[in-house]
Amino acid sequence: MTVTEERTATATRPMVRAEGVTKRYGPVEVLKGIDLTVAPGEVTCLLGPSGSGKSTFLRCINHLERIDGGQLWVDGELVGYRRHGDKLYELKAREVARRRRDIGMVFQRFNLFPHMTALANVVEAPVRVLGTPRERARAEAARLLERVGLADKAGSYPGQLSGGQQQRVAIARALAMHPKLMLFDEPTSALDPELVGDVLDVMKGLAADGMTMVVVTHEMGFAREVADNVAFLDGGVVVESGTPAEVLGDPKHERTRAFLDKVL
Ligand code: ADP
Ligand code: MG
Repeated sequence: MTVTEERTATATRPMVRAEGVTKRYGPVEVLKGIDLTVAPGEVTCLLGPSGSGKSTFLRCINHLERIDGGQLWVDGELVGYRRHGDKLYELKAREVARRRRDIGMVFQRFNLFPHMTALANVVEAPVRVLGTPRERARAEAARLLERVGLADKAGSYPGQLSGGQQQRVAIARALAMHPKLMLFDEPTSALDPELVGDVLDVMKGLAADGMTMVVVTHEMGFAREVADNVAFLDGGVVVESGTPAEVLGDPKHERTRAFLDKVL
């Protein structure tokens, strides 16, 4: 490849590409052929009723589930496999761990270490996993807490923070690993309504800074304002995808319309 070709390939390589991804739990096929492309720097919101497979799909992207069929790439690398010539080999646990470092995930429940301060929660992974010198990790953690609006809470324990504050610490903790992709699974669903806005504002800031994000959410305002693409899932497939104006403003499928009628 020439340098120009290589640049073009990098510039156009999707951050996530799913082609016909299937996943079953025992006899039940939960993902029935997911097709989705997320370009670098873009925000994709996944919408859909409970049980449609949104969390399962995020878990597949993050190497937490093995897919049964189709193909799934993150940043050009097949999830779960390494290609050698025309053969595929399953990744070893160490290689899976290495790739997962590049993906940040934020869950509905914040899962902070309860016995550690906000700062220590953010410092932990870079020091342990990346080998970042503790002083440098602390300085960066302080900057990240400032970025999520919690500079003054560095010394607080999770139990002393509101749900929204804990979720913002969780976001800072994920960012401390310098992920190239951030996955959010209903990050505001467990929060009291008055705490949702601060978390969404942090996510908007991340989007504005160019972070590639896949966000499962029921916050239609966020999807409309921030998403480059919206995908509506139902029954383990992407029923409809496009810009927020297309999917939210002018849905083509009856199932999308019925869902939006309920949540809007
Ligand atoms: P969503 O996030 O859209 O609500 P999920 O991905 O959590 O949907 O779940 C999709 C379907 O898969 C549901 O019917 C759920 O019960 C089932 N499911 C999810 N995880 C498991 C599991 N570990 N074992 C068996 N079934 C599961
Ligand atoms: Mg879910």
